[in-house]
Amino acid sequence: NVFKEGLAKTRTALVEKVEELITRRKKIDEEFYEELEEILIGADVGVTTVMQLIDELRDEVKKRKIEDAAELQPVLSEKLVAMLKGEDNPKLAYAPEGEITVYLFVGVNGVGKTTTIGKLAHKLKSEGKNVLLAAGDTFRAGAIEQLEVWGERVGVDVIKQSSGSDPAAVIYDAVQAAKQRKVDVLICDTAGRLQNKTNLMEELNKIFRVIQRELPSAPHEVLLVLDATTGQNALSQAKLFGEKSGVTGLVLTKLDGTAKGGIVIAIRNELNLPVKLVGLGEKMGDLQEFDSEQFVHALFA
Ligand code: GDP
Repeated sequence: NVFKEGLAKTRTALVEKVEELITRRKKIDEEFYEELEEILIGADVGVTTVMQLIDELRDEVKKRKIEDAAELQPVLSEKLVAMLKGEDNPKLAYAPEGEITVYLFVGVNGVGKTTTIGKLAHKLKSEGKNVLLAAGDTFRAGAIEQLEVWGERVGVDVIKQSSGSDPAAVIYDAVQAAKQRKVDVLICDTAGRLQNKTNLMEELNKIFRVIQRELPSAPHEVLLVLDATTGQNALSQAKLFGEKSGVTGLVLTKLDGTAKGGIVIAIRNELNLPVKLVGLGEKMGDLQEFDSEQFVHALFA
C-alpha cells in the first residue's frame, strides 16, 4: 500500500488512539463517544465532519445493535471510506486523444505547488508522455528558477519569461510551444501570493481564458494545492480558492510529515471537490493518485 509509510504519523494520532480507546473502554456509551470525538478533532478531521461521523456511528450502532466497542472499528472505517469516496472519479482528467492536456496549478506560496508540478511531470514522463512546463508564477522571487531546477531534474522543458512579466503572456507562449512541439501534457504554474489577492484571482481568470481561447477543451484540471500540515487552514484555503477560480480537484501535500491527515476526510466531506493527488515526501517519486479505499486501509489495516 503506497500510502502506508506516509500516513504513519496520522495513523498514530488517529487510529492507534481509537484502538486504545476501544480496548480501554470496551463498552459504547456517552463517554466513549466523547473521547472518540476528541481523538477525531485532534487528528484534524474537523468539527463539522466529526459531528456528522459520530451521528452516523450512533445510528449504525443502534441499527446493528452493537454493544461491544471492538465491533465499531470496521463500521468507522466503512464510514470514512464512504466520506472519502463521494461521487466523483478521483483520477486526473485528460484531453481527448490527439489533443493537448492542460493542467493549471493554483495555491498559496509554500504549499508545495512547484514540487508537485515537478513530481507530476516526472510521473507523466515515465508513463511515456511528452511534457512541457510553464513558469506562470512571475511574481515570487525565485519561482521561475525553482521550476527550471525541477525541469532539469526531470528532463522536461520550461517555457518562461523574465520575472515580473504578464503571466497570461507566459501561458500563451507555452500553449503555442506545446502545439508546435506536439506536447501531450502542459503543466502551468501560477502565482500564489495572498497579500494582494484581488488581482491574483483576476490573474488566474485571465490565464484560464487564454488557455480556453487557444484550446477549447482546456484546462482539463485546475488543481488547488493544499498543505496538509496546516490542518484547518488548508480547509479555509480550499473554500477561498474553490469558489473563485474554477478548481476541479485538490492536491494534498506533505501528508508524510503530519499527524493531521484527518484533514483529507474533512476536505472531502465538506467541499464538493475530489482529492486527486497526494504528496508523500520531497522526492520525485513521492506523489500518488488518491485512492480512498487504499487511504483508509493504510490507516486501519
Ligand atoms: P510552492 O511555494 O507552493 O511552490 O512550494 P514548494 O514546492 O517550494 O514547496 C515548499 C516546501 O515543501 C519545499 O521544501 C518542498 O520540498 C516541501 N514539500 C513539497 N511537497 C512535499 C511533500 O509532499 N512532503 C514533504 N515532506 N515536503 C514537501
